[in-house]
Amino acid sequence: MRWFAGARECSCHNSRMSILLLSAFASSETWRGPLRAAFPECPIWMKGDPFDPAAVEVVVTGPIAPGALQGFPKLRLIVCLTAGVDSLLQDKSLPDVPITRASAPGGDAMITEYVLLHVLRHHRDLPALAEAQREARWVRERPIPAARRRVGILGLGNLGRPVAEKLRDLGFAVAGWSRTKRDVPGVVTFHGAAGLKALLARSDILVNLLALTPETADILNAETFAMLPKGAAVINVGRGQHLDEEALIAALDRGHLRAATLDVFRIEPLPAASPLWRHPKITITPHAAREIFPEVLIPQVIDNIRRLYANLPLQQLVDRTRGY
Ligand code: NDP
Repeated sequence: MRWFAGARECSCHNSRMSILLLSAFASSETWRGPLRAAFPECPIWMKGDPFDPAAVEVVVTGPIAPGALQGFPKLRLIVCLTAGVDSLLQDKSLPDVPITRASAPGGDAMITEYVLLHVLRHHRDLPALAEAQREARWVRERPIPAARRRVGILGLGNLGRPVAEKLRDLGFAVAGWSRTKRDVPGVVTFHGAAGLKALLARSDILVNLLALTPETADILNAETFAMLPKGAAVINVGRGQHLDEEALIAALDRGHLRAATLDVFRIEPLPAASPLWRHPKITITPHAAREIFPEVLIPQVIDNIRRLYANLPLQQLVDRTRGY
């Protein structure tokens, strides 16, 4: 079988390229049509269809149970429909084939919007003002300009970098931290273990947009909170496993941290019994920082499958050694 870059149709010769969608997230009605149009001669099986595991070459999936991708002897590509591939990579039996992730180049406008919203809320102390209003208390803390507010971004990747740039453009004093050295004009950057302490020490508002790997799990913990300036606010948009929830509550209760916004949790949906729900200094959103729309995702998926068969470099390729 041979694919030509940019070709609209495949030229299936002896073998047949077969695509299996394992994700309940990708509803069959939305996906089947565009995939059929792009790959008219190829078998395309949706979740629930009877399929031939021995023929599957491409699996399109979200998070799945460990072992679910075993038994596909011809598998050549795993297309992950989420940006974070942490749960997929935890599967020790995952076949050794390329993995791509859902991540449009240039970031995600909805994530940027979400972070700006919550940085501005914390910057202007809105949670405390709302509480004062409920109690009819006139409490006028003197606001400060953005230039005097230091925002630290953990993660300067596909999502973190545009967030840092937008906050910089709003006039905030922005710094970012990554694993390797990154240069972002107008943003102070740190990297590696040594840079973390420096980043934390100058973060009045800390935003987490790191990939989740064994190195970054639990990075928001009692020790790192203690390195933040007193009165800092924390916004977690990365993964729930980045955050030690008990340590967060303790730091808020003793007044070291001022407030927190959480979009992601160790257990999702967040159980009703979780103390996070009722904590007066915590704002919770239900993993709702962004939505991925099929009209954005489907062309990315089709493009990567075409690239695979044209022997072109894959886009949004995951580095399995790095873990993201
Ligand atoms: P990327 O892979 O593009 O970027 C990850 C960043 O983390 C990079 O800057 C990387 O450093 C940094 N990093 C990784 N390991 C380390 C380490 N050990 N030390 C320091 N920095 C490290 O990811 P995205 O920007 O696409 O996604 C960021 C996070 O957002 C992920 O956790 C993802 O799951 C989450 N997410 C959340 C959503 C939500 O709705 N809440 C939606 C989408 C994603 P380097 O630049 O050097 O490689």
